[in-house]
Amino acid sequence: MSLFATNNSRKFSILKDIYEVDSFSERKVLFSGGQDSTFILYTLASFINEHPRFNSPNNINENFTIQCYYIKTTQFGNYLQIREEVARIKIKEFIEKKFPRIKITLTPVDFSNLEISAVGHAQVAVMPILSLLLEEHSRLYLGQGVTDAVTVEIQDCGKTKVEIFKDVFNGFTKLASKYDIKSVFPLIESGITRAIIQDYLEEVGLLNLCTWCNNETQFDTDYRICVCSKCAGHRREYNTHLQEC
Ligand SMILES: [Zn+2]
Repeated sequence: MSLFATNNSRKFSILKDIYEVDSFSERKVLFSGGQDSTFILYTLASFINEHPRFNSPNNINENFTIQCYYIKTTQFGNYLQIREEVARIKIKEFIEKKFPRIKITLTPVDFSNLEISAVGHAQVAVMPILSLLLEEHSRLYLGQGVTDAVTVEIQDCGKTKVEIFKDVFNGFTKLASKYDIKSVFPLIESGITRAIIQDYLEEVGLLNLCTWCNNETQFDTDYRICVCSKCAGHRREYNTHLQEC
């Protein structure tokens, strides 16, 4: 499916503009294997695959690598870790098969011995590490945005969680004297919703390869009826955004 063959063409057009900026800088994705990061990874790969510069006679034999990072931690349960590991491998294979000149690397950021749940979103703790791992001229894409929690201002602080992520990230890149590295939140900037993501992933054949369930009592769950907080939350977001469309 083309990025633009959709009823939400304005949002996809914004998404394309986001990907277009500095179009051949290093591209990185924080990739869990869940819906949001899978959507970003797939649409980014699709965008690069269709890009005229990638398909010009000079570049036609070139490959393009998207480097993905994932958080390795046992803190959220073993089932979640295994589900995500399996999902990432299947999704990588799916995208590389669909776009043979796009290569995806998977790099763990190991937080096994750290207590990170106290900060609410693991990404706050991950931002300094990621900012130090990245080369100059890199773009790091993060999937936050569909749930309102990260875009609501924190009381007494006047900033949203996402703005704090960016502050931490930018502060550390400056400390490390690295230039032209940006953290980008494409879902927030484009207004892409859960319903769009889920319908899109289903249409391209990726929804069943993703995972987001954190049920620790049952390994094989059906996300349509699972009662874990993640599955229930996704269903709620999906229904809310369907009504808005
Ligand atoms: Zn679940």
